[in-house]
Amino acid sequence: MTGQASVTDLPSTTVLGLPVSLVDMGATIETVARLVEAGQPRWIVTADAAGMVQAQDDPALAEAYRTAALVTPDSQGVVWALRRKGYPGIGRVSGVDIVDQVCRLSSETGVRIFFLGAAPGVAEEAAERLRLRHPGCNIVGTRHGYFPADDDALVANEVAASRPDVLFVAMGIPRQETFIVRCLALTGAKVGVGVGGSFDVFSGRVKRAPGLVRALKLEWLWRLALNPSKIGKVRLLPRFVRLVLKEGR
Ligand code: UDP
Repeated sequence: MTGQASVTDLPSTTVLGLPVSLVDMGATIETVARLVEAGQPRWIVTADAAGMVQAQDDPALAEAYRTAALVTPDSQGVVWALRRKGYPGIGRVSGVDIVDQVCRLSSETGVRIFFLGAAPGVAEEAAERLRLRHPGCNIVGTRHGYFPADDDALVANEVAASRPDVLFVAMGIPRQETFIVRCLALTGAKVGVGVGGSFDVFSGRVKRAPGLVRALKLEWLWRLALNPSKIGKVRLLPRFVRLVLKEGR
């Protein structure tokens, strides 16, 4: 489609056969603003190591990566893989930080944001806290993420009533990506971003790791300690490391 090249012409490489954009937060937010302007529905994948492993066995998830306008390095594992490939200057661009920075953008420009996902009440709590953090930020609607896939189109129509520009979907990988690929156009939003547990973090129900733990690149271990059900994701890490080492530089 014409008009898309200008926003996707950002540099990228591949990790485990999947695209990863070589971007920082500034370029990511600039892309969000340009996509809103361009008006075609496009999505951004926030790539973590577990998701990239899942995509090896999940063609729909792999397709979501391949057709994304942008794939940001969400986790330290992906940043490590990029370093090995010769891109030492690329740091994390996480879903949590994208939500925060798009809310800041919205407070300056009025961009309309919808929060879809997490348990009942969580998205609204997250929205309330972000409105305090970025006064004037235009979060136009919220909805919880516990509904069967059969209701996807119904929920998408519900979202559309709020006329969002940017739709954040926090329902976990690969559910959030499936929803975005199937239903973003129905919602009328121009940008869809899967952001995992971000609403839990902003609602205050899940604490972000302290600065020191983050500086030591151990946020994943902190989250695991607080939420042992995440062990399923951590179990995928050795396979990620094996595949990256096999892939070479
Ligand atoms: N979630 C949801 N609907 C579901 C399953 C999960 O909205 O059917 C939410 C869950 O409450 C949590 C988020 O999705 O807020 C998943 O967070 P997690 O940190 O596990 O995401 P991931 O690690 O997969 O990015």
